[in-house]
Amino acid sequence: MILQIAIPTPLNRHFDYLPPPGIDTNLLRPGMRVWVPFGNSRHCVGMLLAVAEQTEVPKDKLKTILKVLDPVQPVLPEDMFKLLQWASHYYHYPIGEVISTALPRLLSQGEPAILQSPDKDGGEYHSEWVITPEGQLIDPKTLPKRQERFALLLALLQQHPAGLSESEIVIELPNPRPTLRALQKKGWINAQIQQSALTLPLSLNPAQKQAFDYVSSQLQQFSPCLLDGVTGSGKTEVYLQIIQKVLEQGRQALVLVPEINLTPQMVSRFKQRFTVPIAVFHSKLNHQERLQTWLLARDGLAPIVIGTRSAVWTPLQRPGVFIVDEEHDPSYKQQDHFRYSARDIAVVRAQRAQVPILLGSATPSLDSLQNVHLHRYQHLILPERAGAAVHPSFHLVDLRQLTSRQGSLSPQLKKAIVQRLENKQQVLLFINRRGYAPVLLCYQCGWLAYCEHCDARLTYHEATHELLCHHCGATRPLTTDPSTIECPNCHHPKMYLIGQGTERVEETLEKEFPTAKILRIDSDSTRSKYAMHTMLEQIHAGEADILVGTQMLAKGHHFPKVTLVGVINFDSGLYGIDFRSSERMAQLLVQVAGRAGRAEDPGEVIIQTHYPDHPLLTRLIRQGYTAFAEAALKERQQTEFPPYTRLALLRAEAEDVEKATEFLLMAKTQAQQCCDTEVKLWGPVPAPMEKRAGWYRAHLLLQATQREALHRLLDKWLPMLPASTPKLRWSLDVDPQELL
Ligand code: ADP
Ligand code: ZN
Ligand code: ZN
Repeated sequence: MILQIAIPTPLNRHFDYLPPPGIDTNLLRPGMRVWVPFGNSRHCVGMLLAVAEQTEVPKDKLKTILKVLDPVQPVLPEDMFKLLQWASHYYHYPIGEVISTALPRLLSQGEPAILQSPDKDGGEYHSEWVITPEGQLIDPKTLPKRQERFALLLALLQQHPAGLSESEIVIELPNPRPTLRALQKKGWINAQIQQSALTLPLSLNPAQKQAFDYVSSQLQQFSPCLLDGVTGSGKTEVYLQIIQKVLEQGRQALVLVPEINLTPQMVSRFKQRFTVPIAVFHSKLNHQERLQTWLLARDGLAPIVIGTRSAVWTPLQRPGVFIVDEEHDPSYKQQDHFRYSARDIAVVRAQRAQVPILLGSATPSLDSLQNVHLHRYQHLILPERAGAAVHPSFHLVDLRQLTSRQGSLSPQLKKAIVQRLENKQQVLLFINRRGYAPVLLCYQCGWLAYCEHCDARLTYHEATHELLCHHCGATRPLTTDPSTIECPNCHHPKMYLIGQGTERVEETLEKEFPTAKILRIDSDSTRSKYAMHTMLEQIHAGEADILVGTQMLAKGHHFPKVTLVGVINFDSGLYGIDFRSSERMAQLLVQVAGRAGRAEDPGEVIIQTHYPDHPLLTRLIRQGYTAFAEAALKERQQTEFPPYTRLALLRAEAEDVEKATEFLLMAKTQAQQCCDTEVKLWGPVPAPMEKRAGWYRAHLLLQATQREALHRLLDKWLPMLPASTPKLRWSLDVDPQELL
C-alpha cells in the first residue's frame, strides 16, 4: 500500500510513501496530516491525499511515514479537502502550498488541532470586554507615556461602551491579553459573557424586501445573487436578515470584507444584532488565536464567520450562506504566490455546498454584471439610499484653466470648501498619490529624478525630506531644499517639483485655510500603530474640518458630517495602462463620492480633471455607474478582454534584461507544440514597468474564449516548464486582475 502525500514545495505533484509500521491502514483518511522525511529535513508536515496500490518510485527509494498526526480524524473536513484540490488544479499551484496557505500556521507546523476549553483560558477568548463606570472616569490622556498601551485600550473601550471582543481589540492593540489583565486588576474594565443591548431588525423597504424574499426562497440550493445597491442603500441590513434566517435553520454564515480596517465596523453591527459567537479573522490575529477561531468555525461552534480574503478558506460544519461585501474590490485577489480570488472561491464553495451566495456592491465588477446578463446570477437591485439621505450631485472642473499659481485648488473647489467650513460641515479631498510631489525636474535639460532599480520616477516626500521610490522603497535623502538642488546632469542650480501629492495638498490647505483643522490620511501618516484609529475618532467627534487622503479614505468608512468631496486630480484613472483601469477608476470615483452626504445634508462632489470631455467620465457622471458599466462591457467585448475571454498570464523576471524574454519565448514555443488553436498567445512583451527592484520583467499572455480550452492547454504545457531556473523567477496568474 502506497500513501500519496502533499508536501509544501514548489513541485506541483504528490510524493509517495509507505505507511508507518503497526498502523491500521483502514483508519487512514485523506486530509490527515503526517510527518515524513523529506529532502534534507528529518521530518516535515505533509497531508495524506490518497491511498494507492502502486508507485513509480523504485522500492528501495521509498521512504516510510514517521507518524500520523491526526490518527482519529482528518484535520480538514472532506469538502474543504476537495475544494483545495480543485483550487490547486484551477490555479495550477502546487497542492502542498495550497494546503499550507489554507491551514492556520500552527496546523501546517504539525501542532495538534485542539480547541482550548474556555475554562482553561479564563473564558476571555469569547467574552466581551467592557469599560467599568470607574474606567469611564479616567482620562487616557493623563496616563504617563510608558502606559501608552493602557491609554489606548482605555480609550478604545470608552468609545465602545457596548463592549469589544478580544479579536476586535487585537486589531488596534496587538497581543492585548497582558494589558487586558492589568486594566481588569485596576477595576477599569471587565469581562462580561452576556451581550449588550441588541438592535431589532429594521422593517425592510420594498426593494430590500424583494431581495430578502428572493434569497430566503433559495436557501436550500445554490443561488448566486448580485446585490447591487448604492452606498447606504441597506445591503448590510439585508445580509443581517438573511443570516438571521440561516441561523434559525441551525446553519452558518461566512462573510467576507475587503479590508481589515472595515472588519470592526461590520463586526460591531453583527454583534448588535446577534447573540451567537462570531469568529473574526484578519491578518493581525496571532497564530494561536487564528487556530482557535478556525476550529470554532470548523466545528460549528461559531455560527457566523467574518474575515478578510484568507477567511474564505475557513471550514464550516453546516454552511448556510456565503456573503462577499464589496465584491468588486481588487483586494480579494491575492497578488503573489498562490494567486487565488477569494470572491471566486466563495462562489465555488456556495455551489458545492448548494447554498446561496450574496455578492454585494455599489459598483459591481464587470465580471459579475456579465454573469447577470448571462442569467447565471440573480440581479437584486436596491436603487435608493435607505435613510433620508439623497444622492450627491457631481460637478466637473476643467483643470486646464488653472494657473500654476493656483496650485491644486480651483476657485470652484475653494469656494465650496469655504462654504462647508462656515456651516461647520466636513470636507474630504481625495488624491491618489502620497508624498509631496511625484516629479523632480530640471527645466534646463529635462532631467528627471528616476529610481536606479525601477523604471519609475522618485516621489519627493517633504516629511522625511527624501526622494522615495513607491515601487521598491529605495530612498535618496536630500541635503538641501529641493528647489536649491543642483541638476546632476547639467549642473543648473535650480530644480522644480511638479505635480501634487497628499503632503503638498495639505500644505496648500494650511495656507488657504489657516484656522481649519486638517487631517492627512495616507499610508505615511497612519504608519504608527494607532494613528488611523485616532484620526477616525477625531473625524467622528467633529474635531477635523478637512480630510485629505488617498484611497484609504475611499473605502467603506462612514463619515456622516462630510458633505463635500473633492477629487484633486482624476487624470491618472482615465488613462491607465491596464484593461481594467477604467473600471477601477469608476468604482473608486463612486466609492469616494459615496462618502458625501450620508446623513440629512445632501452631498456634493467636485472632480478636477484635465479631460472634462472624456467619454467614460462624462457617461459615469451624467448617467451613473450602470450606464458606464454597459459601455465598458461593450469595449471589453470589442477588445476581447474578460469577461468575454479567459486569461492567464505567465510572468517572468530576471536580473539580466534578455533572460526573462528568452525564457518566455522558449515557453511560447512549447505552448505552440501543444497545438491548441483555441488559445491565443500574446507576447512575450516587457511589463509596463519593465524594471522593478532591479529585476527585468516580461510576460506572455494566454487568451481563450472558453475556460476549458485554456485549462486544457495549461494542464499540458505547465509540466514542460522547468520548476527552477537559475537567476530567473516565473509564475502563472490565472484570471489576472491586471497585466502588470
Ligand atoms: P449599505 O450596506 O448598502 O451601505 P446599510 O445597510 O449600512 O447600507 O444601511 C445604511 C443606513 O441605512 C444604516 O444606517 C441603516 O441602519 C439604515 N437602514 C438600512 N435599512 C433600513 C430600513 N429598511 N429602514 C430604515 N433604515 C435603514
Ligand atoms: Zn525603485
Ligand atoms: Zn539639468
